[in-house]
Parts: sequence; C-alpha cells; structure tokens
Amino acid sequence: MPDGAKKQKPQLIGDRIETCELDRAKMALMNPKVINEKIQERTIDELAKKMIETCLKEGIETVWDRAEIQEPHCKWCVTGVSCARCTMGPCRIMPDINRERGVCGADADLIVARNLLDTLATGAASHSDHGREIVETLLLVGRGESSGYVITDPEKLMAIAEEYNIPIDRETTEVAHDLALAFLEEFGTIKGEIELCRRAPDATYEIWRETGILPRSVDREIVESMHRIQMGVGAHYANILVQGLRTALADGWGGSMMATEVSDILFGTPVPCESQINLGVLKEDHVNIALHGHNPMLSEMIVQAAESDEILTLAKHYGASGINLVGLCCTGNEL
Ligand code: SF4
Repeated sequence: MPDGAKKQKPQLIGDRIETCELDRAKMALMNPKVINEKIQERTIDELAKKMIETCLKEGIETVWDRAEIQEPHCKWCVTGVSCARCTMGPCRIMPDINRERGVCGADADLIVARNLLDTLATGAASHSDHGREIVETLLLVGRGESSGYVITDPEKLMAIAEEYNIPIDRETTEVAHDLALAFLEEFGTIKGEIELCRRAPDATYEIWRETGILPRSVDREIVESMHRIQMGVGAHYANILVQGLRTALADGWGGSMMATEVSDILFGTPVPCESQINLGVLKEDHVNIALHGHNPMLSEMIVQAAESDEILTLAKHYGASGINLVGLCCTGNEL
C-alpha cells in the first residue's frame, strides 16, 4: 500500500443497514478457523451452515452472537432463585452464605414457583389474546364490517355453534356473530368454568373438577396469576403451582382452542399438503417476504396483497420476477 493511502474498510452489509454491533464479526472475519468452528458448533444443517457463514463474514448479528455476548449467564437467574418482584429487592437465594430468604420472607421454593407462574401466565396471555383478536375478527364478519375476511368453513361454524346451543337455521353471518359473542364471553365469563373444557374426556374433566383446577374464565386465571405472584400475596409454592395448572388449562382449553377453531372458520380447516422447507425456499430473483408471528390475521392479508396486480407490477418494476412469501414458526403453517 503506498504511503499515505487510506486502508479500505471492508464493505459489510451491517455498515449499510446499521443493524448490529460489528466488532465481534470483524474479528471473526480475520480468522477463518474461528468462523468454521462457530459454524460447526451452531448447526448440523448444511443449508444453515452456508447462511451462518455468510452472516459471520458480513457481520450480520444473529441469535448465536447475542447468546455468546450474554455469557456467562447469571447463575441465580438460570436456577430461578432470583427475584425482582418488588422494590425491596432484587433478592437472590444463596444457602451457602445463609441467604435463605428474600427481604419479604420468600424462600427458594416460593421464588421458583412464582417465577414459573409468571412465565405460564405470560404465555397464556399471549396465546389467548391472539385468540381474542381472531374472535373479534369473526364478530366483524358477523356484523358485515370486515373487509377481506370471510367465512371459509361454514360447516365448522355450524358445528361449533350447535355446541354452544346457537340456532343455525339462518344466515352464516348471523351465526358467526352469535358464536363470536359466545366466545368473547368465555374470556370473562361468570358461569364458573370455560364451556370448551366440556370437550375433555369425562374422566379427565372429573379430575380437573375434583382438584379445583377447572379454569373459571380465560382472563380471570391470568389476572389471578399476576395477582398471586406479587410480593406478600401467594405464600405457599404448592398453591402457586396449582394456579399454574389452572392458568395452563385456561389457555389450552380456552384462548388457544378458540384461536384454532376460529382460524379454521375464517381461513379454512387445514388438510395435509406438500410443501417445501428450509432456507432453499428463498428465491434469488424474487422479493422474499418472511411472514413471522403467531397471529394469521395480518399474514392472510399479505397473501392477498402479494397476489394483486398492483404489487406484482411494482415488484417487476424494481427488477424482481415476483413475490415469494415464506412462513416462519406457526404462521408458516397457516399460509
Ligand atoms: S418480592 Fe420478596 S424476594 Fe422478591 S424482590 Fe421483593 S422482597 Fe425480594
């Protein structure tokens, strides 16, 4: 290099799109052996290996990089014996130096149980609110106020309506309206239990009833979980764990089940079909859109938009042959 010449900076994708911290990737760039070791550690999938190699060489941060940067993890958090539930903490349980209880008196069992219930309630809220949004869409269809969404499986609509004693000898939109209201009522019902739990085998249902874990409504169990994990409320780990079972049932037999049923009504009941998987689904000459998430409401609209003349013309105007939609996680199976 001539004296005074400025060294050329490597052209990295990360520089252009400013997505990530590149220092670690730049280090890897200088050492192909490290890159190869990381590829072997991170996957056994031959396609993924190529993608990981590209990411490492171009400084595109991935989940593996972030996991490495986080190490070493806090060992109290990993074992569940840390708590930051109130402003007297955070507290960590360390029996070997006589830290047996948090400031409020919670011991390791209670702290672990509360942390677990927190996680369960968060998951139940996430799934169930996804269900609520789909049911609200069904209500809009029933009211004739939705654009783009229709009843795709009327037979399923009628079958579930009968389960709820809703008259079915009328327009499908009227039935959809009443079923949506019945489902929405399950989120805060005062009947004492979620109707869909009756679908369980009699013996199973009886066990739930006898042990007192029949969910009273979807929202009630999630709210009660958040209540019980607060400082000074739930005081016995076993009691906290029983609430975890009740909350899990509220999700599985309430919010999540409604999400599944109404997805079938709106988008069609799935049937086995041939498909393609893995990174090979990406197309070099197309605009690739990866639809990610657990709620199909937006994805379905993107499928419709991607087939429209306007969007296809736009893609071709910019040099692409078309639009290629690919799915990630559960939404991938909904497309
Ligand atoms: S709830 Fe108890 S254990 Fe948790 S941070 Fe507060 S005082 Fe500490």
